[in-house]
Amino acid sequence: QGNDTAENGLIVSHFGVAVEVLFETGERRMVKVKRNSGHVVGDQVTVVGEVLHRRARRTELSRRDARGGIHLVAANLDVLGVVLAPGTPSGFLDRAVVAARAAGLSPFVVLNKCDLPESEELGAMIGSVYGAILPLFTLSAVTGAGIEPLRDFLRQGHRGAFVGTTGVGKSSLMNALCPELNLKVGELSDYNWTGRHTTTVSSLHALPGGGELVDTPGFRDFGLVDITVSELAAWFPGFEALKDHRCRFNDCRHRREPGCAVRDEVGSGGISEERYQTYLVLLGEVEALEEAAQRRN
Ligand code: GDP
Ligand code: ZN
Repeated sequence: QGNDTAENGLIVSHFGVAVEVLFETGERRMVKVKRNSGHVVGDQVTVVGEVLHRRARRTELSRRDARGGIHLVAANLDVLGVVLAPGTPSGFLDRAVVAARAAGLSPFVVLNKCDLPESEELGAMIGSVYGAILPLFTLSAVTGAGIEPLRDFLRQGHRGAFVGTTGVGKSSLMNALCPELNLKVGELSDYNWTGRHTTTVSSLHALPGGGELVDTPGFRDFGLVDITVSELAAWFPGFEALKDHRCRFNDCRHRREPGCAVRDEVGSGGISEERYQTYLVLLGEVEALEEAAQRRN
């Protein structure tokens, strides 16, 4: 029996005690894993018999739990859609963009619920601040308005996921983009590996016209792992060009340094005071992480 032949595949679902692997042949099969084996959806694996060998990852997306613990959510994603709707807390988008870039993913913005009149004000603000920096899709997951450009974007071979606070419409958007999703979720949660009922931790869905989406249940907050102050200063949306060309000091933290182009922009209204305060909060977090790392060494 050719049980020890090596087969290459992709982890498309994770059930805690087993993963579903989509092989290059097109076959799908469940493979047992130990709990906390470290495999996640999006991992490229080589399966030999019952043993999974994980290949090197291109990107890693992590979430942070209520206690500050960091958990890997998905591997090898290309893009991260930050979903906003009226009422999204200010600062969420900037934080998410920094986290996405830190994880090696290209962020884009989805402004959902454009059918609601109260989304107009948010839309105008997002358009003027982020329109030139990030891909922006204004749409309604419920009416379907504006969804086609997002489909086209994902179709360009992108593998992505959505993040956003509870109630912004992530599930509605996933269902609108993957029509087979409801059915599939039902099928998968009935899968019985050990005689116990297992629930899907996370799954990768191929979109009808191309592209792939990973659903990320319970993803609320980001782990800003392994990020340095200079990376934060380079990745905060709108600071990119300013930092390289205009601050007096190369390693400017944009806090109290003289000749700081970011603070000039805040003074002249080019960057809002609110967004600058978000930056300072993130800066404080990253500095605390750096100090903790130094104490350990
Ligand atoms: P999630 O928590 O981010 O997954 O959000 P849901 O997809 O569960 O949606 C939360 C609520 O917002 C539900 O009542 C949806 O019907 C509603 N909703 C989602 N998308 C839209 C939209 O485009 N327009 C309007 N008006 N409501 C929406
Ligand atoms: Zn500066």
